[in-house]
Amino acid sequence: MTDPYAFETLAIHAGQSADPSTGAVMPPVYLTSTYKQDAVGKTRGYEYSRTGNPTRHALENCLAALEDGKQGLAFASGMAAADAVLHLLSQGDHVLAAHDLYGGTYRIFRTVFERLGVSFTFADASDTARFLEQIGDNTRLVWLETPTNPLLDLCDLAAIAEGAHSHPSQPLVCVDNTFATPYLQQPLALGADISLHSTTKYLGGHSDVVGGALVMRDEDLAQRLAFVQNAVGAIPGPLDCFLVLRGIKTLPIRMDRHSANASRLAEHLAADDRVRRVRYPGLPSHSQHELAQRQMRLPGGMISFEVAAGEATARRLVESTQLFTLAESLGGVESLIELPAPMTHASVAGSPLEVDPSLVRLSVGLEAADDLIQDLDQALHNAHQS
Ligand SMILES: *Cc1c(COP(=O)(O)O)cnc(C)c1O
Repeated sequence: MTDPYAFETLAIHAGQSADPSTGAVMPPVYLTSTYKQDAVGKTRGYEYSRTGNPTRHALENCLAALEDGKQGLAFASGMAAADAVLHLLSQGDHVLAAHDLYGGTYRIFRTVFERLGVSFTFADASDTARFLEQIGDNTRLVWLETPTNPLLDLCDLAAIAEGAHSHPSQPLVCVDNTFATPYLQQPLALGADISLHSTTKYLGGHSDVVGGALVMRDEDLAQRLAFVQNAVGAIPGPLDCFLVLRGIKTLPIRMDRHSANASRLAEHLAADDRVRRVRYPGLPSHSQHELAQRQMRLPGGMISFEVAAGEATARRLVESTQLFTLAESLGGVESLIELPAPMTHASVAGSPLEVDPSLVRLSVGLEAADDLIQDLDQALHNAHQS
């Protein structure tokens, strides 16, 4: 089941059908490490669960349908998925990466793969022409994130993918699509080779599972990554796959509401003098608002802004909310607030990617928007008292 169905239908049905032996509507959680062979080498499609598991396959097939790709691969975490992509590289290879990235991605680049002889250049991907100029003879991979974490900058996926693929070095283009989700943005349709997810975030959607995924449109590339998945072995367990599959069923309606709530909060914050530079792709004041409208179905549920009075006030703000929980991560039904500089982005401290210590990041949940606005107002008031 693929082409004739809309995203909302695929989110519920793709990769899944009623269990033939019992009629169970949800794919069973196949808690098994191995599978009986009917004769030596005669399997029923599965031999060992690192290589393949039916619950994981249901998730992988669902993800492939949602991204309109050939194959999906599920991993134990978003970082395990990133690690698998980086395992395609060899000593001497070069990676061109956007300069505003998830902190853990920056960390694995600099502390693990640089040591193994892979070199990295970080450049502003929102300036397409200047970014593409950084592609060299040995550039094998272009790494993009849009919208970025935590600055909510965008890059033009279609233009960068086209530019990268027309360069003689033919780098692969990998897009971290975690913030947007396949519902809001389709990197493969825009020309990327790999769409990467931390399924921990919106795809799982309920802050109860850690996972990652890759989706590819080229079969040969998918095979190479499936080889890494099996050889390295950073696979998710079947229960984790089940939780992500369940989360995905409500992804479209959740993203609609995340976006509607975030739009209201962003407008409210933008009108508050105590807040500086509200970063939200849905605001007309966002420098890439037009690109957001072209590239994304909706602006999403993430907002960041600076507190005008500075770091200490920002700290008091994130410690004063009652409904927003002070926590890392994002994409769950509940609203979260954090300070990227000492929390999610501590690993980029002292680097060119360092973020302003007064920057606050919101993951806007599915609570009533009025309650969320009231909570931010009381926390802003409280933070400015001392
Ligand atoms: C969380 C996150 C990751 C890493 O995923 P984990 O599941 O935590 O390993 C990668 N990219 C982005 C944009 C993220 O938000």
